[in-house]
Amino acid sequence: MVIAKALPVAGIKLLEERFELDVGGLLPGREELMERVRGAAAIVPDPTVRVDGALLDYAGPQLKVIANFAVGTDNIDIDACRERGIVVTNTPDVLTNATAELALALALAAARHIVPGDALVRGGEWRGWEADQLLGLELSGSTIGIYGLGRIGRRFAELARGLSKNLIYASRKAHPDVERELGLARCGPREILERADLVSLHMPLTGETHHLIDGEALAQMKDGAVLVNTGRGELVDTAALIDALKSGRLRAAGLDVYEGEPDVPPELRELDNVVLAPHIGSATEKARNAMAELVARNVIAALRGEEPVTRVA
Ligand code: NAP
Repeated sequence: MVIAKALPVAGIKLLEERFELDVGGLLPGREELMERVRGAAAIVPDPTVRVDGALLDYAGPQLKVIANFAVGTDNIDIDACRERGIVVTNTPDVLTNATAELALALALAAARHIVPGDALVRGGEWRGWEADQLLGLELSGSTIGIYGLGRIGRRFAELARGLSKNLIYASRKAHPDVERELGLARCGPREILERADLVSLHMPLTGETHHLIDGEALAQMKDGAVLVNTGRGELVDTAALIDALKSGRLRAAGLDVYEGEPDVPPELRELDNVVLAPHIGSATEKARNAMAELVARNVIAALRGEEPVTRVA
């Protein structure tokens, strides 16, 4: 079996007892990966590894399972896997809290201008306390919008509830149980943008959600609002986001994910009202170890012909 890049030791241990592993290391290119997957029974990609029909065919008919080391499966052509009878699994739940906490960290950092503040002190340019320096948005009492109320969105709502009771959400379906439990109010896709002081994105990347936050959507957001994205970079039109941040229409943004990672446009990197995290939503020891174990359990079950723990297709 092939581990496309690397897997924490918790997963490797479980797998190496049973299978012959080929661990790709940090950055196997597409061609190297194509060579490596030949004859593999299982492939363990991560969000940076594209799995399409060509790769599956190159691997050969013995390929049984794609066990993604992530909950999002936008890197995988699920239909191509289905057509070939290949099982697809992911790692839900075990990374939910870590990712929601990162979203909250980005929300607070963006709203309170932590990055320019850090630069000021670090650069030796800080001249002392000033009455109007780096005035931010206080999240307590603000309207906080959760866009995409799944596992991570719900956990983010739980955490945000400690700051504000004005929580609204937009999702395709109504979630009356969560509304009752957390005091959330449901609203439409336009209303969440118009009403929220902070909008946090938690939906998957699909054909429907690609550039969901485009120039028009950003124009609907409140003046001085904050946008947080720990979902996927392609949910947001980066060029339009840069314009909204440059003009000051948006107060700030907190981003963990980018279009075309790992390339981040220089115009975005130059702005001081955006917090740029390097796709570390699930990057806690606890979450990554649990993800690795789940990957291993999924591979083991699928190769035994049993039902995997967290099957996507
Ligand atoms: P999930 O439980 O499937 O939740 C996603 C929710 O998005 C769904 O419950 C769905 O709710 C909602 N949704 C789907 N399409 C929508 C649309 N068009 N408009 C509004 N809402 C929509 O998934 P999760 O575990 O919370 O993970 C969410 C995403 O976070 C993943 O797909 C992944 O891309 C991202 N993620 C990123 C990191 C990171 O490192 N930054 C880590 C983990 C996950 P409805 O059915 O009600 O619409």
